[in-house]
Amino acid sequence: MPRFHGLKLDKKPLECTTQQINQSKLDPYLSKRDFNKTKEPTGSKKNEKDTIFVIQEHHSRKLHYDLRLEKEGVLKSWAVPKGIPFEPNKKRLAVEVEDHPIEYSKFEGIIPEGQYGAGTVKIWDRGIYETKEWKNDIIEFFPKGKKITGKYVLIRLKKDNNKNWLLFKGRD
Ligand code: MN
Repeated sequence: MPRFHGLKLDKKPLECTTQQINQSKLDPYLSKRDFNKTKEPTGSKKNEKDTIFVIQEHHSRKLHYDLRLEKEGVLKSWAVPKGIPFEPNKKRLAVEVEDHPIEYSKFEGIIPEGQYGAGTVKIWDRGIYETKEWKNDIIEFFPKGKKITGKYVLIRLKKDNNKNWLLFKGRD
């Protein structure tokens, strides 16, 4: 939600970029990490052209799969403890987590001990995707990856911006 923080008289309107807005969306992501210690991206790079998705296999305290969908200059992110379903009507819990920078879609490596999400991150699948519907409580998306393709649906379990969603494969 945009908030008014005051006028910046030192900047001309033409000097303002959407990247500056995206940067503040990443505040929760940035505040959890010490970039002197972790090699995860800082989110300073610009957007690419295609709308990308990535699923990262994250061996932290508990193995889970992080589903990330590019949207408005950041990666909307969910942690899926039981992995991505391949067949229709297998429902999986997907817990919404903080927005990640776009370059995170290429991140693989080790997050050091003591850092947020410490453990190993591997790219499980990556590609582009399209959306049919993206509303507050329902997202229908069509990933084109190596492992997953076709229709996928995310549905928020309860209203009021609850962080718990259900992920399932739709019938194409
Ligand atoms: Mn994770």
